[in-house]
This record gives sequence, structure tokens and C-alpha cells, in this order.
Amino acid sequence: MADFSLDRIADLPLDLCLGGEVVPASDGGRFDVLDPATGAVLTTVADGTVDDAVAAVDAADAAAAGWAATPPRERAEILRRAFELMTERREEIAHLISLENGKALPDARGETAYAAEFFRWYAEEAVRASGSVMTAPSGANRIVVLQQPVGIAVLVTPWNFPAAMATRKIGPALAAGCTVILKPASDTPLTALLMAKILEDAGVPAGVVNVLPARRSGPVVSAMLHDPRVRKLSFTGSTEVGRVLLREAADQVVNCSMELGGNAPFLVLDDADLDAAVDGAMIAKMRNAGEACTAANRFYVHEAVAAEFGRRLAERMSALRVGPGTSDDTEVGPLVNDESAAKVDELVQGAVAAGARVVVGGRRPEREGFYYEPTVLLDVPVDAAILGEEIFGPVAPIITFTDEADAIRMANDTEYGLVSYVYTRDLARGLRVSEQLDAGMVGLNRGLVSDPAAPFGGTKQSGIGREGGHEGMLDYLESKYVAVSW
Ligand code: NAD
Repeated sequence: MADFSLDRIADLPLDLCLGGEVVPASDGGRFDVLDPATGAVLTTVADGTVDDAVAAVDAADAAAAGWAATPPRERAEILRRAFELMTERREEIAHLISLENGKALPDARGETAYAAEFFRWYAEEAVRASGSVMTAPSGANRIVVLQQPVGIAVLVTPWNFPAAMATRKIGPALAAGCTVILKPASDTPLTALLMAKILEDAGVPAGVVNVLPARRSGPVVSAMLHDPRVRKLSFTGSTEVGRVLLREAADQVVNCSMELGGNAPFLVLDDADLDAAVDGAMIAKMRNAGEACTAANRFYVHEAVAAEFGRRLAERMSALRVGPGTSDDTEVGPLVNDESAAKVDELVQGAVAAGARVVVGGRRPEREGFYYEPTVLLDVPVDAAILGEEIFGPVAPIITFTDEADAIRMANDTEYGLVSYVYTRDLARGLRVSEQLDAGMVGLNRGLVSDPAAPFGGTKQSGIGREGGHEGMLDYLESKYVAVSW
């Protein structure tokens, strides 16, 4: 599919998907979707309005009672069918992700498989929403706990994993019996629209999944959060926008799950297997060209191995083939937009001005599109801005440490707590350090933590709640306690 173009996906909706219909925006507005490899317009998509947001809630509301009453086995089979359709159409989906997001095809294929797995996993979980029964300690009655769907869920997703961030929310919501409105990121609405089509083909009834692309995200999401019929917000995106939405959700006390930003430390202890650590670093840093909330942002490397680790990492980074995401031999695609590439460059230049040394990369290449060269920085001062913010690009800053306790203190010195990585040959030491790292997830001798079967999420300002695993469905269920005498 080297010459892939959008026309290859004949059934891709380009309007709003509301109540089982594909409809234009109420004011006829549309917005451009760009190709990050060239900056050219790929296509335009309907730009949802506040009126459309109300219509989306109407559609989700009309379908809510029927979907909640649908037998769990039937909901499971529909989700399973969605997994199978995604798997059958995986090449098309991967190309579409590459086209609108820019990521290299191997990353897009990885995302497609990961995204489909959420449908398979929650097909399996749909039939396991068990409650409980116990005798009250007084002996006077029974305590029966039922699990019921929380209600209409608004799902807001980022551009960096346009398929997986959608399925990670839609899968558990549908399994739990909730109807949803998905507001995808405006840089990448196409993949979400194709998901709507696939879910419809899998047998999801009209109104259960509604997709509402909108450039004016603020007013559109706010309108839904102020509609008393909406009971759930699941947001993935930046901590900054997460704070705004938590405030918005407060007015109607909407139940919130928040998957926010990260600033992952990657610790290489003196006894680490350096081959494994460099392999892990390449995954933790370079998956999606560094545009991942889980991306290793700060490499703390023991002084005994820092020079060798830096040398090997630089060698691997400089060998990467940079190019358009949809080309078969590309390993690193462009960043999502011009602003992202400019921000990465600003952080790198700031670190250099503060005393960091560029080993490889360190600039935007002279070509069209939103590219950044894979970069390794050595001797990064501990107070450099690049260590305090999400880089969201292919840049690895290395900081040397001598004392393990210092490394842990520096790793935890951030308002984020999504994920940390540790490399050591001593498993007991690794587990001890893992316990001391303030993060929702730890990769111990592994550069990849994401797994649909595991609870993904962060501590501190990286979020509230978990997605994936058994825990992921609990975020869409409400416990109802019935005190019974019999
Ligand atoms: P973003 O916060 O800018 O946008 C996320 C979503 O919110 C988009 O759909 C956007 O249109 C919408 N949005 C923006 N402003 C809004 C507003 N005022 N009201 C309502 N909606 C609004 O994030 P992004 O740039 O799309 O994605 C990158 C961020 O996402 C990074 O911070 C990354 O760490 C985070 N992320 C976190 C996870 C996780 O699981 N923790 C996963 C992927 C990405």
C-alpha cells in the first residue's frame, strides 16, 4: 500500500456520526485535516457545534436504556466482532493513522493491534461485571452489591494514539452498558470516524457510539458536561486541559477519569545489562517518535556506565531512517504539527544554552513537513527546562548520577507520576526501587508498559483512575448497594 491515499477507504465518514446517521455540522462548518509529512490539506471534516453536542447527547440518551438492558453476552459478541473487523482492516487503519498523525507505519501497525485488543479484552470482561452478596456484620440483613452502568459517557481523546485512545475508552464503556460520545482531537479525527463505521458494522446499535469532531472543543465539551444527562467524562490529554475539564465537570459533579501528561524518568543503574537498557531506551523514547505520554523524558544513568550508554544510544538514534510515516522504510515520521516541532526545538536550544552537549541531532532538518532529528543530549543541567516538561519529540536528555537515592529523588521530583523505567540485573533491587518511584506504572527491565490487560494510569497530576485490565471497566460502573431482609 505504498501509494496509499484516502480514496482507498471508500466507507470513511467525513461528517459527524450521530444516532446512526452521518450528518453535516448544524452550521455547515468544516475544518482541514493536514498531512504532517507535507503540511498539505488531506481532506476536510464536519466541525461540530454546541447544537450538535446537544444532538449527540440526545442520541446517546435515546439509546441508553436499550443498551444497558442488552444482555452482556450480546454486548461482548459485538465487541468481539469489532476486534475481528479491526484485525481484518488493520493495514487500512494503520495507513490512515500514519497519514493524519505522521507516525511511521511500524508504529501505526503496533497501535492498530494494541487498539483492537481493547475490544477483545472488554468483550471478555463484559460478562464479568460481578457484584457481591454478604451477611451484614449485625446478622440483621444481607448486603447485596450490584454493578450498573454509570450512564452517558463523554470521551475526549488526544491525537497521539488516535485509534488506541478511542478503543481504550469505548471498549470498557460499551462492555459496562454505557452509551458514548467521542470527541476526537482535531488533528486526527479520521481514525475515530473510521472506528465509528467499524463499530456500526460490528452491530453496535444506532446512538450507542456517537463521534463528534469539533475544532471548538472548549464550548462543545462544556455543553455536554453541563447537560445533566451526561454522567461520565473520560479524558486523555494534557494536564493543562485536564485541569480545565475537572473544573467544568464540577458543576454537575460528573464522574471523571483522567489520563494526563507524563515526564517519565528512565533509570540505568550501575549493574544494568546495557544491551537491554539501550534496546529498552529506544522503545521507551522512540515509540511514536517520542509523542507518547509514556515516553522516557529524562535518562538518569549511573556515572560508571553513562559514557557507554550515551555512546550506544547515540549510535542507534543516528541510524534511524526519518521520512514520511506512510513510506515503507521509514522508522521515524514527522511530528504532528508545526507547533510541536517548534516546541521541541525550543526545549533543545534552551538545554544547549544551559550547558547541554548535542551528541546527535539537535535541529529541524531542512525539508518540508514537521520533522525533528533524533537527538541525544549529554551533560544536561538538572534545572534545564527540558527536564521539567513533556518533550513530546525524539529527544533523549542524559543526566549522570552517582548515588541511587539521588537518582530516585530526581526521578520523583516532578508533578507528574505516570510511568518510570528502571534497568538493573538485580531483580530484588529493581523491585525495591520500583516501590520507591512515585508513578502509576513501572517498566522494570522493560521499555514498554502498555497492555490492554493491565491497569494503565498515573499518580499525582498524571491522572485519576485506570484504563485497561479489570480496573478499566470499573471506571464505567457504579456500585449499587441494596440492603435486603429475607
Ligand atoms: P490536549 O490536552 O491538547 O487535547 C486533548 C483533547 O482535548 C483533544 O481532543 C482536544 O481537542 C481537547 N481539548 C483541548 N482543549 C480543550 C478544552 N478547553 N475543552 C475541552 N476539550 C479540549 O492534548 P494533545 O495535545 O491532544 O495530546 C497530548 C497530551 O496527551 C500529552 O500531554 C500526553 O501526555 C497526553 N496523553 C496522555 C495519555 C495517558 O494515558 N496518560 C495518553 C496519551 C496522551
